[in-house]
Amino acid sequence: LKGAQAQLSDWLDAAHCAVAFTGAGISTECGIPDFRSPGGLWTQNKPIPFDVFLAMKSARNEAWKRKFVLESAFAGARPGRGHVALARLLEQGKLGGVITQNIDGLHQASGVGEADLIELHGNGTYATCLDCGTRYELGWVKARFDTSGGIAPDCPHCGGPIKAATISFGQAMPETEMRRADALTRQSDLFIVLGSSLVVFPAAQFPLQAKDNGARLVIVNREPTDFDHLADLVVHADIGDVLAPFARNA
Ligand code: NAD
Ligand code: ZN
Repeated sequence: LKGAQAQLSDWLDAAHCAVAFTGAGISTECGIPDFRSPGGLWTQNKPIPFDVFLAMKSARNEAWKRKFVLESAFAGARPGRGHVALARLLEQGKLGGVITQNIDGLHQASGVGEADLIELHGNGTYATCLDCGTRYELGWVKARFDTSGGIAPDCPHCGGPIKAATISFGQAMPETEMRRADALTRQSDLFIVLGSSLVVFPAAQFPLQAKDNGARLVIVNREPTDFDHLADLVVHADIGDVLAPFARNA
């Protein structure tokens, strides 16, 4: 681990634009399981595909029911060592930005500002109306859901469906975020993947694109990924352990 940390540290110092690309694995130490972890949380509370959500009121009711189960399980999750390390590297000017697939809001909670963060799959800490875009807090949705006996509320302004502000399977990727991620990846000469199985596309295209552009590619993941053979450095270890030295006050 020491060798890998020293290598990473050298490359971070040398890089003009280092980019971190994070997945569910950076948040597991915060008590939010990734899709592969045992425990059944995701199996029992599977995300509902976008077309089904749109098609049926009953699916929207079910989606919100599952969302609130997950909410209560994850309530109080705090940033982990990986999040803190990235926030610190940004402060130090050693990181050009963070691209995340996560929806848990933990990068923001660690102090990463909007300008430095690209959320490819949206954010699960609030909701929006799919028709008019009005934002609703989860507490607002939950109060109406609970008092109506489990009916998903519609938008009071336009009657549209209200959905957590995440990108569901089958939903279009957010254009602005995709454009920003594309631009940042083009600039990047060091691209660090942290805790992603790299099977969800189009998000997983960014590490490939970075490598194609000549960036150094680093993959930190507990288990092998399909892209390990492309990486300049592969670390099969715990993200918190690998990034712990970068999370400490210098
Ligand atoms: P994934 O679950 O497919 O893969 C996570 C990877 O991280 C796995 O390969 C696992 O071995 C590894 N990992 C887990 N804990 C680790 C640790 N402590 N140290 C090192 N490696 C660790 O996640 P993904 O690639 O991000 O794709 C899943 C999709 O599900 C994404 O679209 C994401 O938005 C969503 N999701 C998000 C959250 C979240 O916001 N925290 C949680 C689960 C799923
Ligand atoms: Zn509306």
